[in-house]
Amino acid sequence: MNWLIENGTFLTQDPERPVVRGWLAVRGDRIAGLGEGEAPQDVRSVARERVDGKDLLFLPGLVNTHGHAAMTLLRGYADDLKLQEWLNHYIWPMEARLTDDDVYWGTLLAAAEMIRTGTTAFADMYFFMDRAAEAVETSGMRASLCRGIIGLGSEAEWREKVADGIRFAREWHGKADGRIRAMLGPHAPYTCPPPVLEKVIEAAHELGLPIHIHMSETAAEVEQNVRDYGVRPAEHLDRVGVFTRPTLLAHAVHLTDGEIALLAERGAAVSHNPVSNLKLASGIARVPDMLRAGVTVTLGTDSVASNNNLDLFEEIKLTAMLHKGVTGDPTVLPAGQVLRMATVDGARVLGMEDTGMLKEGWKADLIALRMDRTHFVPRTDFVSHAVYAACGADVEHVWVDGRQLMRGRELLTLDEERIRHEVQHRFERLLRG
Ligand SMILES: [Zn+2]
Repeated sequence: MNWLIENGTFLTQDPERPVVRGWLAVRGDRIAGLGEGEAPQDVRSVARERVDGKDLLFLPGLVNTHGHAAMTLLRGYADDLKLQEWLNHYIWPMEARLTDDDVYWGTLLAAAEMIRTGTTAFADMYFFMDRAAEAVETSGMRASLCRGIIGLGSEAEWREKVADGIRFAREWHGKADGRIRAMLGPHAPYTCPPPVLEKVIEAAHELGLPIHIHMSETAAEVEQNVRDYGVRPAEHLDRVGVFTRPTLLAHAVHLTDGEIALLAERGAAVSHNPVSNLKLASGIARVPDMLRAGVTVTLGTDSVASNNNLDLFEEIKLTAMLHKGVTGDPTVLPAGQVLRMATVDGARVLGMEDTGMLKEGWKADLIALRMDRTHFVPRTDFVSHAVYAACGADVEHVWVDGRQLMRGRELLTLDEERIRHEVQHRFERLLRG
């Protein structure tokens, strides 16, 4: 199917031509061309559908590189508590009652919310992942999924979880027309002792897959790592061999200079989750230092239990603000750099090829923001508007793989009313115990 956007303004993320005012054509799942001014006659003549881009700002779809989608079921259930009390008394008891159907509906709610706020691709680590993958397939989104492995039980228990993570990756990697990718997801160094990590690393090499793991989210877990293994988490993971695979580290809040240099050397990427880190009072990651050292930093929401929404525009703005405040330097994390973190850099660390840039031959994953809003006047710098003035509710249209998932704020792949009803009803059941 060929279709065409005309009269649009495109923030491409392509360094060769960052802003294009004109047209963008799509053939199948890819961008067939884009250019200034009017589309050439041969492009217009084959377009079976046309989108009037007047008053719309087009961006590559946003990429959320860390989360636990089905935890939408626990939104607002427990806030403003100390981390261990929050986990032990609220989150974990509720999670123990979750069924595979709950995960399916919770993930659908997350997908609906992400599409509505301009996210087209996300990373997810949870359990009952077959049902999460089904939800992704239904939604039309792109995702990199892994079964979260907590290796604290008996050897038989953790071996079964690792085997399930491997089975899931084998079954789902490349599915949904290639929109679903798999990673292996050992939860964290403090929940996965070295034998668990070693087994995961071996499988990651065998399957050619990356590893997604939480690291150094809190100061307490770093101290525990030093007590248990004599070194801080980054060095520990390096010794065990995790970084022999492409690795995505969630949080990485508490790092020394030496650890930052090590991550840069090993090519490990970071998912920065500033809203979650602030809400749980975990701390503030050293993002400008990481970027200066050459570490790829991307953006994630974490679960809504610690966020409490999936609007990645909040992470974009907060990232651009927070590090200026902390360093006392308003030149760090300029708007354009943060937008790259939330698009093309995010897609790259999730292994999504040709995704995150509006460029000929790249995947047609894009969003359109309505520009006829008071907070986008006057039309000065569009990158500035997208980072500092926009919010998820400005998103009007969304496409993934060339297929439209939202048109004029109407979701085309998901029955939102049913999803809202299901999740409310399931939360009430979970609460009753
Ligand atoms: Zn997490």
